[in-house]
Amino acid sequence: MPNTVPCNLCGSARGVPQSRKARFLNIPEPFGVCRCQACGLIYLNPRPTIPELAEMYATHPYFSADNATRGKPRRRFYASRMERLERWRPQRGTMLGIGCLEGGYALEVAQNRGWRVSAIEFSPILAAHAREQLGVEVEVVDAWDLSSIAGGRFDVIYSHSLEHFPDPRASLRQCRKLLPNQGLLMVEAPNTFRSIKSTLQRAIIYLAGSNAQQLFFGEVPAGFHLYYFSPRSVRAMLESEGFEILELRTYLPRHPVYHGNPRLGWLQELFYAVGGPFDRGPTIEVIARVVG
Ligand SMILES: [Zn+2]
Repeated sequence: MPNTVPCNLCGSARGVPQSRKARFLNIPEPFGVCRCQACGLIYLNPRPTIPELAEMYATHPYFSADNATRGKPRRRFYASRMERLERWRPQRGTMLGIGCLEGGYALEVAQNRGWRVSAIEFSPILAAHAREQLGVEVEVVDAWDLSSIAGGRFDVIYSHSLEHFPDPRASLRQCRKLLPNQGLLMVEAPNTFRSIKSTLQRAIIYLAGSNAQQLFFGEVPAGFHLYYFSPRSVRAMLESEGFEILELRTYLPRHPVYHGNPRLGWLQELFYAVGGPFDRGPTIEVIARVVG
């Protein structure tokens, strides 16, 4: 059942369908991609319902044990990410991890660096991997509902899954309640339509035909990403919920895996080196702080 939703950033229901973007991402009918006419946010609409999303996370082969070990070659990258975070909080403290995508290795790295980590996850398979193989305390939740989280407050919330939240503004509002004044939030989202990598991929699909899509998005289920952020829209969304942006970067060195393939890590490094300084690297990383 397709579910039609308004723009999560500004509330407008005036979304313009983006059929070329939907084709690029290999999104089948009746789902689609639209761009908010009022604020420019690009998101999946219509999209699967919340129960359908929960079923996808529980049953789609993409969330099998294969995905759970995807983060393993990225431990060095996750360590460099935590170094960036720790520049703002060298004394460590408590960390809530939202999502164990790629197996929760980032949270394992944080734990080994002295953070007291607990986490929530949509997928029972990824949660079990993080808990049993990496020793991260993980709870399985529905719909990224943070309202039931025990333990009250955290010094830092870390998530590399903002684009998976059905209602990111509500989730950010809940994050703000779980953080003290000056508490830190670190999030990552793909720079889906702004990056040089995506521009090149779109050019390849345009020239080589739709078969080339399988190279980039073949295995990923529709509804996997619900939002396609840009540096501008992710900044606007965080600021709309009372966060001050401390750092926003798309240059992330030591990210040596290209579509799960460490042998093509040099290509990923190239995309970061060429696009990153111009906000056109493949991934957006933000460190933000609660104000007021
Ligand atoms: Zn909007």
